[in-house]
Amino acid sequence: MTSPDHAGEPLIARRELACGIDRVGMQMSNDLASLPRPPLLVGVLKGSTLFLADLMRSMQIEVEIDFISISAYSSTGSSSGVVRIVKDLEVDIAGRDVVIVEDIVDTGLTLNYLRRSLGERGPRSLRAATLLDKVARRIVPVEVEYSAFEVPDVFVVGYGLDFQGLYRNVPEILAVKDIAKLANDPMLLVRSLFVETSA
Ligand code: 5GP
Repeated sequence: MTSPDHAGEPLIARRELACGIDRVGMQMSNDLASLPRPPLLVGVLKGSTLFLADLMRSMQIEVEIDFISISAYSSTGSSSGVVRIVKDLEVDIAGRDVVIVEDIVDTGLTLNYLRRSLGERGPRSLRAATLLDKVARRIVPVEVEYSAFEVPDVFVVGYGLDFQGLYRNVPEILAVKDIAKLANDPMLLVRSLFVETSA
C-alpha cells in the first residue's frame, strides 16, 4: 500500500517490517530461551499492539503478555517526561523476566519512566524492545536491548502508530512530510490510503 498524497510517503514497507520483526523475535528467543519461567512481554498501549502481535508470533519460545497504558502530562503539547499510568499491569512482575514492548522510542522520556517504574517492582530482569528508534531525538539516554528499525527525525504513522487516533491500521510505516497540513486536516491521508465507501 502506498500513499499518493504528498503529505505522507512510505518509509518501511510491509515485507521490510516482517523481516525486521522476525530478526528481533529470533534474537529475543535466543536470549530468553532458558529462563525459569516464560518471559512477560509488556505492551505499551496503544501504539505497540501490532508490533507485539507480530513479535510474539515470531518468537520460538513460550511467552506471556500484559499491557500498560500511560499518558503524558503536557501543557505545551511537547513531551515533558512527566507521565502517569492510566491502565496498570494485571500481573505481579516481582521475580519475572520482563520485556517492555514499545512502538517507538523518541526522546526516551517515556521508556525511561517505564524502566524506572517497573524496575521498582522487583523484576528478575528488565529489557526493552521497540519497533522504531528515533536515535537522533534522544534527550535521556535509555537502554533499548532490541530495536527493529532506526528511523530519521520525521513524524511517522501506521502499523500501530497514530495521528489523533487515526492511521493505526495502516499496514506499513508512513513518514508524514507535512505535519502542519495533516494537523489542519487529520483525515488527509485517509482519503488516499483507504477505499472510500458510499453510504
Ligand atoms: P518519547 O519521546 O517519550 O520517547 O516517546 C513518547 C511517545 O511519543 C511514543 O510512545 C509515541 O507514542 C509518541 N511518538 C514519538 N514519535 C512519534 C512519531 O513519529 N509518530 C507517532 N505517531 N508517535 C510518536
